Amino acid sequence: MAEGGWTLGIESTAHTLSFGLVDGNGLPYPSISDTVRPDKGGIHPREAADHHKEKAPELFARILSDNDLHPSEISSIAFSQGPGLGPCLRIGASIARGLSKKLNAPLIGVNHCVAHIEIGRQQCGCDDPVLLYVSGGNTQVIARLEGRYRVLGETLDIGIGNMLDKFARAHGIPFPGGPVIEKLALEWYSQNSEHSMEGLELPYAVRGMDLAFSGVLTAALKLVENGKPLGAVCWSLQEHVFSACVEVAERALSHTGKNELLLGGGVACNNRLRSMCQIMSNERDSQSFAPPRMYCIDNGTMIARLGWLEQGAGRNTPFAMSAIDQYLRTDQTPITWS
Ligand code: AMP
Ligand code: MG
Repeated sequence: MAEGGWTLGIESTAHTLSFGLVDGNGLPYPSISDTVRPDKGGIHPREAADHHKEKAPELFARILSDNDLHPSEISSIAFSQGPGLGPCLRIGASIARGLSKKLNAPLIGVNHCVAHIEIGRQQCGCDDPVLLYVSGGNTQVIARLEGRYRVLGETLDIGIGNMLDKFARAHGIPFPGGPVIEKLALEWYSQNSEHSMEGLELPYAVRGMDLAFSGVLTAALKLVENGKPLGAVCWSLQEHVFSACVEVAERALSHTGKNELLLGGGVACNNRLRSMCQIMSNERDSQSFAPPRMYCIDNGTMIARLGWLEQGAGRNTPFAMSAIDQYLRTDQTPITWS
């Protein structure tokens, strides 16, 4: 354990730089974050890294002042070691090494995907869930088996969040597009009494336990080009891709015999997805959990929480082993805590 001191977590895998804290008992405190929002186009890794570098001093000062902390009260520094965008990860790792050295606090490099799972378990109080991890760059269905979080199914092309963001961007909606698609879909749904999918059908993206989203994206863009209302297509898009995710999650529950489903990642902020998971779980006498939204999106607190768990398991990261790993997989990290 972190010996009564605080663990600082630094998240920098993609669009967001975030600092978060857990106390000596591993209890989370809200993050201080800033997200790059390009005027046009997608997230450029170099520009996002420059954003993170520029914002870091201000965010670090704020997490200390908001929690009335002196830097000397920080007893360990956790950071996202991967997976993510190389230039962004490198900034987070550099900040972490600098602080570790300055504060004489051990460094702990952690797996970003595992951090999403662990903050969800802590927040929701579930024990051994199947995780539906739906974010910008990742879409995975995961379960813990023999000391690892195993990926049972995942996207074969782009992440579900990236797909939603790309669809939004094609219609002039800036990043992050997911929340706006949710709003447009709900408006259309409430304003139309007939909820027919006729003429709004899209490819259904399940391949065994895996998923795919680029074909659905192309087909959804075509529907709008061919004159279907944007709100209607947003509704159809959500129904199709969320159903696909929930179908794989259900099969994972069935195969593993587990009875808890936990949502994680930015797309887990979506109310429609949350309610689909509830319905499916209720139908099979299982429970569905979704963490508070501030812990679904990328946040430093989840990195701090996993760092605290790793330290409790006796692990830290010597500087020589602290290089980032863009392609770190969920199942590469041993899970030794209960
Ligand atoms: P993350 O990569 O986990 O930080 O999540 C970011 C992604 O979550 C982006 O692709 C957002 O568009 C998406 N997102 C955030 N809120 C929502 C929402 N309410 N509905 C759908 N997607 C969302
Ligand atoms: Mg994430």
